[in-house]
Amino acid sequence: MNYAKAILPGETIGIIGGGQLGRMLAFSAQSMGYKVGVLDPQVDCPAGQVATWQIVGEYSDDMALAEMAERCDVLTYEFENIDAEALDRVREQVFVPQGVTVLEVTQNRQLEKNFLSEHGFPVASYEMAEQVAELDRAIETIGYPSVLKTIRGGYDGHGQVVLKTSEDLSLARELLVGGTCVLEQWVSFEKEVSIMVSRNLAGEIAVFPVSENEHRQNILHQSIVPARVTPAVQSEIQVLAKALAEKLKLCGVLGIEFFIGETVIINELAPRPHNSGHYSIEACDYSQFDLHILSICQRPLPEVNLLQPAVMVNILGQHVAPIYETLLQKAEWHVHFYGKTEAKENRKMGHVTILTKNCEDTLAEIKGEHIWD
Ligand code: AMP
Repeated sequence: MNYAKAILPGETIGIIGGGQLGRMLAFSAQSMGYKVGVLDPQVDCPAGQVATWQIVGEYSDDMALAEMAERCDVLTYEFENIDAEALDRVREQVFVPQGVTVLEVTQNRQLEKNFLSEHGFPVASYEMAEQVAELDRAIETIGYPSVLKTIRGGYDGHGQVVLKTSEDLSLARELLVGGTCVLEQWVSFEKEVSIMVSRNLAGEIAVFPVSENEHRQNILHQSIVPARVTPAVQSEIQVLAKALAEKLKLCGVLGIEFFIGETVIINELAPRPHNSGHYSIEACDYSQFDLHILSICQRPLPEVNLLQPAVMVNILGQHVAPIYETLLQKAEWHVHFYGKTEAKENRKMGHVTILTKNCEDTLAEIKGEHIWD
């Protein structure tokens, strides 16, 4: 393997975006001896608090990006809704190993779905609707129930309307006024699962175990690892993840969300560390953050092993007060906080990972705390 372009300890990794993913990337990078610079408009943001330095500026600010390029040896991002064109412009000045293609594809549901289906990956049937007038035609093909999603900027269920009957059409039309949408067939799944996969430019790939995810109000609530699926489904997902990493010519870590019903269907891609991969910090020999750093630094990728099954639960704003009491009783709970000061309802403030020998017992223990009722 040719690791000629490797970024070595002592060099500086620039992260665009200063949220919790950037913070945990910074921890990992620093433990390997890298310096970390962060670009984020918010002073004292979660990643800025722990980085070697921060530039306070917008993600699309060419001056700020040029300064990042000047001060960093490699540039990455911690969330996908950054300005791909601005990142493209800065590529002449600094190593951006992830490129912009994967970013552009995953920023746009239409490009993402087209990419997946054109390359033979399983997705729910879908039709595009650019204008309100096209919704009826899309519904004729896809039928009810279905879900209309904006192609840009949606997250945690924002920018989505579920269509059960024609009574839901008026809400759907409102969504379409905001821009092109994709109408997707509703998948009657038994489980939602996800996997993290990472690749470097030498083509080495590492996959993580499959995690089983429970959402509440469209926000990830809990992940159970390994997912309670058959070994055949587990390996099908790992094979799909490796194939997708290759087809995308991925660099860095990618989160892939699936619906598991009669078949395995890909729901969504995230070209960055993912909330459902946080368990890997304690439960695996290398975390998703470690693998992202190793991948973008063009270093050899280790095989990732699950050391112990785990349950990860998110701490949202409303859970902060009760978790403060509980953590004093639970020495074995790995409680992470992201350094956010304002604990707003449904804002991701931290997470807990519990390593376990018996998943059902741990789920019962979590329930018994009544924090997440
Ligand atoms: P997304 O933002 O696309 O991940 O959607 C948020 C959540 O809505 C998913 O985690 C699912 O629980 C649900 N959902 C989205 N699309 C579908 C679908 N086609 N069929 C069934 N449930 C869906």
